[in-house]
Amino acid sequence: MPDYKVSVGNVEIVSLTDGQGDIDAVATFPDSTLDIWRKEYGDLLDRAGQFHPRFGCVAVRSSGRLIIVDTGYNGPGGKLLEDMRAKGIAPEAVAIVFATHLHPDHVGWHMTGGKPTFPKARYLVPKADWDHFTKPVYLKGNPHVQEKVMSLKALNILDLISGEYKITSELTAVPTPGHTPGHTSIAILSAGKKGFILGDVSHTPAQVHYADWSPTFDTDRVQSRKTRHKVFDMLEKDEATVSAGHYPGTGLGRLVRHAGRRSWQPL
Ligand SMILES: [Zn+2]
Repeated sequence: MPDYKVSVGNVEIVSLTDGQGDIDAVATFPDSTLDIWRKEYGDLLDRAGQFHPRFGCVAVRSSGRLIIVDTGYNGPGGKLLEDMRAKGIAPEAVAIVFATHLHPDHVGWHMTGGKPTFPKARYLVPKADWDHFTKPVYLKGNPHVQEKVMSLKALNILDLISGEYKITSELTAVPTPGHTPGHTSIAILSAGKKGFILGDVSHTPAQVHYADWSPTFDTDRVQSRKTRHKVFDMLEKDEATVSAGHYPGTGLGRLVRHAGRRSWQPL
């Protein structure tokens, strides 16, 4: 199996990438220090002290259905469709497009040129994020909400979900609030194996140890910290296969513990 694919029981996860961004590490994580970054995570930083979160998405095959989780940023050089083609995934084959939340780097390819990029799919969006991001005060500076999300409602191909929600018998959407009010991850349970599609519960492998670090762009940094601790404790205990969209490489890995310190182990 190529390294961008992994199986969790009978579920297959294919890692996809739309490009990457640039973020100043210390400005984004005010509880961190450049010293810690350089000493412990030097490989993640460039010389200017920036790290480069991937705009990662995944295709998931479960119970005969193809699901895309998040659709990247679709900025200059955005290459999600190219990456899908290279990995044998046709947009027409997608049954469900799931948004972990409504930030622009997660819904970028929901629509292309005023049309749904995935013509046969239903699009799932957490209702608490819909309620938050469709407020007039937010819409003003964020045209992506109208263009990429509200337009789906007008086409009658959008479903708002709340609480825990079964996507298939093996995939359950689970609220993981903090980064945004409706932020939602996906828990996988298939043939006794566990997996988890994290979304933006975490943006860098450094948070696997420094789980207290909440980025400035979380809506509720106290809640996101609580969520991160709870989710990471569970993933470590379950030895779950994790997909982390903003992590480097394929973003596929596990949370492991050596000498009392928890860290990210890429697959
Ligand atoms: Zn993001």
